[in-house]
Amino acid sequence: MMINGVDRIRATKSRTDLVFIMAVVLLASVFPVNLLPSAPHELRGTDGQFSGKQGEVLLVKVPVGGHPTEVVGRFLGRQIPFFQDTVATYMGLVGIDMQDAPGTHELAVEVKDPAGPRLLSYNVLVMKEKYPVQHLTLPKEMVDLNEENLVRVKSEQERVRLVLDAVSRNRLWNGVFIEPVRGEVTGAFGRVRIINGQPRGPHNGEDIDTPLGTEVVAMNDGIARLTVDHFFSGKGVFVDHGLGLYSMYFHLSEITVQDGEAIKRGQMIGKVGASGRTTGPHLHWGVRLNGARVNPFSLVKLPLDGTTTAAR
Ligand SMILES: [Zn+2]
Repeated sequence: MMINGVDRIRATKSRTDLVFIMAVVLLASVFPVNLLPSAPHELRGTDGQFSGKQGEVLLVKVPVGGHPTEVVGRFLGRQIPFFQDTVATYMGLVGIDMQDAPGTHELAVEVKDPAGPRLLSYNVLVMKEKYPVQHLTLPKEMVDLNEENLVRVKSEQERVRLVLDAVSRNRLWNGVFIEPVRGEVTGAFGRVRIINGQPRGPHNGEDIDTPLGTEVVAMNDGIARLTVDHFFSGKGVFVDHGLGLYSMYFHLSEITVQDGEAIKRGQMIGKVGASGRTTGPHLHWGVRLNGARVNPFSLVKLPLDGTTTAAR
């Protein structure tokens, strides 16, 4: 369904471009002047260009004049709240979902101002990431869930969806993001498993191999929005960092925070375990950013030191 939506946007866009080119050709033949310098207002993406791979997070700074009441970005149907960075700039973390279609897409940023709204338009070039594919053959009873577990998993997924869909209006995170544990990163982000010939959903986090009982810390400030003991993810913590950014820590042996508790970057939230459906102790670390499934290490790499300590 999402792929169809993307195709539609692309088709519309190229048609618009074609109409524009034809209009220029037509006008150029009538008026022997260079029309291009005044024409680009009609083009998309004239305010700049960004690029990144599937699963990456882009740090986008936009210039804003006046005193905007709100600055909101829209990218591939997802809404991205921007926040004030300096007097004249707003900043947003734009997540490229692990399965966003490669190609150029528009990031539209609406600056709501009492003097009238303004629209900024950027091109975002999404590049393809190569994900590992794993073929597994397992006994049928290990793969198929019984009726009881199916009902359980469905209700757990629904609960998680409701939590991740809610957007806290305040930015709770501050400054750099850190790794929750030190260990061997398995590179499992985006991995597709084909079990008994049937492709499963992509692995939407990163797995870090580390011994049982290792302390797991929060990647940034936030609120422990939900603590769970779920069928697949086992004991897990969902941290709300505000503005639609959530981090998740699964398969824990122990959870040391409570629902609704305010937490700080580097604070212990639990210990590494092997709870839920897993073959051994490791941390599954995931991030959801305004609905996009992104690689958590992409946040760690952002140059945020000292850039976001002011506004809160
Ligand atoms: Zn995992």
